[in-house]
Amino acid sequence: TVKPQAMARFETEKTYVMVKPDGVQRGLVGNIISRFETKGFHLKGLKLFQCPKELAETHYGDLSEKPFFPDLVDYIVSGPVVCMVWEGPGVVKSARKLIGATNPLESEPGTIRGDLAIEVGRNVVHGSDSVENGEKEIGLWFGDEGVIEWEQAMSPWLRE
Ligand code: UDP
Ligand code: MG
Repeated sequence: TVKPQAMARFETEKTYVMVKPDGVQRGLVGNIISRFETKGFHLKGLKLFQCPKELAETHYGDLSEKPFFPDLVDYIVSGPVVCMVWEGPGVVKSARKLIGATNPLESEPGTIRGDLAIEVGRNVVHGSDSVENGEKEIGLWFGDEGVIEWEQAMSPWLRE
């Protein structure tokens, strides 16, 4: 068990990351998880999931007026996705950097999209864009179940 002070010390932000259906179909799940894992972030939730249409529409609700919205929803429900919760200091912004720019042709090499994708409508991965949206999206995709609070044995080697 962890002392309350130690828990507070390790309490950090969370983000929602998702391998989209193209990433699952292309066999990129391990590659993508590996980048967050080896960076040192802490995995708090993970599931393979067939997204219902309503959830895709809610998740991307802010984009509902965009011309690409119907195609985006079709894309997200076109096959299973892998839903993840990653935790760590500054993880929301850091995950966005690891993921790279929305348009893979503009994503830097070394980023997930920069290395693994060529089209904006097949950009393999999602990451929350703010701490607030991260909390919202974790609630939306995981609800009350599936986010596990656990102590990672290697955390003293990652956190000073
Ligand atoms: N998207 C698209 N066409 C566009 C812009 C976005 O198909 O012109 C898709 C793309 O899959 C993107 C998602 O809509 O990842 C959400 O768009 P957003 O601007 O939130 O980009 P993200 O946060 O994923 O980088
Ligand atoms: Mg976004």
